[in-house]
Amino acid sequence: MLVFVCLVTGAVLFTLLKLNRNISLKKVPMKILVAVKRVVDYNVRVRVKADKSGVETQNVKMSMNPFDENATEEAVKLKEAGLASEVIAVSIGPDKAQETIRTALAMGADRGIHVVTEEGTEPLCIAKILKALVEKEQPGLVLTGKQAIDDDSNQTAQMLAALLGWAQATFVSGLSVEGNTLNATREVDGGLEKIALTTPAIVSVDLRLNTPRYASLPNIMKAKKKPLDSLSAEDLGVTTTPRLTILEVVDPPQRATGVKVSSVAELIEKLKTEAEVL
Ligand code: AMP
Repeated sequence: MLVFVCLVTGAVLFTLLKLNRNISLKKVPMKILVAVKRVVDYNVRVRVKADKSGVETQNVKMSMNPFDENATEEAVKLKEAGLASEVIAVSIGPDKAQETIRTALAMGADRGIHVVTEEGTEPLCIAKILKALVEKEQPGLVLTGKQAIDDDSNQTAQMLAALLGWAQATFVSGLSVEGNTLNATREVDGGLEKIALTTPAIVSVDLRLNTPRYASLPNIMKAKKKPLDSLSAEDLGVTTTPRLTILEVVDPPQRATGVKVSSVAELIEKLKTEAEVL
């Protein structure tokens, strides 16, 4: 009799635990906001403007920032897995930024938001605009690239997390969602770091996270019909007055031609006497 009672109690406990686990693993679809920036295409050799005020963007091929392609891919994959209800692509910049949003829509984002600003808006201002959009749209997750390859700032995601007081994972190369927990693998100097964070959260992504899909022609056509709202930074209550002054943008110094050494001893000698680094 005692054995029977123990077995029944065990079975009930097991069922309850399993149920509880399923509840905690239940898919809770959330909105995802993905930030996509229009930058000089990564294949283009960047040229400094004649007046040294920045880099040349006139008559230069522009594309979506490569890391933002990974962010868009991840957002679309999460939606396809039933873990996101909607993917909203946001770009902040001049009119042409709409082309970048259309690319994200062709990859599978549902709708776009374009915030019209001058080219070269600073990361803090971008973060403030994204914060205002987060408050408006209430996403559970914001995905960004780890850095924009034009200014290589690597600041926006961190500033946004600080402004919102949300959890953040940067340089993410692996991501899984369990209920309202995100398990992220971060690329750090010493290797890989695994962290868990609770949504709502900001995740900035690295290239190894996934392989972004190519938008098919039918999807490019479909993207033209997807909703794309346009607003100004002022509509969101954000002023875009720069806080930083660019003094001068210059090309990196030309590298001197190298020399071949015939032995390690000669290399060490040159490092000591010529390069003076040892
Ligand atoms: P950064 O901090 O400038 O290196 O940019 C990091 C990430 O923030 C980018 O990969 C984008 O996801 C996002 N971001 C930065 N600037 C913009 C922008 N003007 N429009 C949309 N997203 C942006």
